[in-house]
Amino acid sequence: MTDTAILAVLLAAIAGIAAGRAWSAARRRGELRDRPGFRSSGHYLQGLHHLAAGQVELAISELSKVARESPEAVEVLQVLGDLLRQSGQVERALALRQQVLLRRDLTRAERAHALAALGTDYRKSGFLDRALRTFQEVLEADPGNLHALSEIGKLQEEQRQWPEAYETRTRLARLRKADDSLVLGHLQAEMGREALLAGRADEAERAFRTALSLDRRVFPAHLGLADLLLPRNPAQAAAVLEDAVRTDPDRAYLAFDRLLRCLDAAAEPSRFVDLCEGLIRRDPRDWRARLALARILIREERHEEAVGLLLRAMEANPQALEVHLETWRALRALGASGPAVDRYLASAEAAVFYRDPHLCRSCRYRADAMLWRCPQCHEWDTFVEERLAPAAAAR
Ligand SMILES: [Zn+2]
Repeated sequence: MTDTAILAVLLAAIAGIAAGRAWSAARRRGELRDRPGFRSSGHYLQGLHHLAAGQVELAISELSKVARESPEAVEVLQVLGDLLRQSGQVERALALRQQVLLRRDLTRAERAHALAALGTDYRKSGFLDRALRTFQEVLEADPGNLHALSEIGKLQEEQRQWPEAYETRTRLARLRKADDSLVLGHLQAEMGREALLAGRADEAERAFRTALSLDRRVFPAHLGLADLLLPRNPAQAAAVLEDAVRTDPDRAYLAFDRLLRCLDAAAEPSRFVDLCEGLIRRDPRDWRARLALARILIREERHEEAVGLLLRAMEANPQALEVHLETWRALRALGASGPAVDRYLASAEAAVFYRDPHLCRSCRYRADAMLWRCPQCHEWDTFVEERLAPAAAAR
């Protein structure tokens, strides 16, 4: 079965349970009139069979017949709406939700469910403002509605409304009784970055420090704080970055450029060399620390030593294109010159698609740099450097 089909069956089951609960609650309150037995319709059963077999289009066709025969079957309309949305027929799905919401006899749960589905339809069709308003309406009817809250949070994050997104996450974490401090820290770091870009330094500093007090692993908060401190106190900025490297050595490379700038400004470049050497001792496969060291050697015109280091980096990760390019640059400085070398370097630099591939651990989305929030699955802090296994391991 495809993922879509599994999702559809799950949705159908959830909708069934929700509707069943709403129905028995309504019956207890005596507010429900008898509903015709659409369940005995052949189209209904046929529709469910198609759904279970992952034949979404056939399920849509059968359930549409049920919806025509029994327009009062709210749960069927809801599931049909979800299937239509999934198969890309968002306009039909929207019409169906509106048909459901016009009914006067909906229970509270049915209304909240229909509104939440409408909001998701709007989000999927790009009407973000309308989606937000619809989910807010769900919350007015049902303040603890987790689905609506989490969708609102996603919308706010997508529109970079960081303070609002932070508030929504806080509420969500409280309701779920879950520890969400890493994500909350990332949201604070985004607030800090935005304040920094707008020149509001005090506000930025507060946000970065809040982020780090929530979770020290919020790497971009270290980076932002260092950017803020560098002009007035490079030594202090360097200390922030060294702290970041200690907290999360696997991400040290993200701090290299800044750290070198800070230590150059503080007239202590040798501290950068010490740090890189420490990283290599900790993890002999650390090719990025070797590359950074090689670049320092190249800066000092020690090209031969640089090439030695680059060859070691290449052993650690032969796929890293940056290492190959840097090696050629060093070789050129050592005399490997000529139009062929120049042409090779130019076309290698221009042709590369993924120069430094990073991968989302959650959905496998690939990007050419570290991202803190995945644009595809919307998770936070899921990216890692993508490394291919050595060919020897595959054999
Ligand atoms: Zn992802």
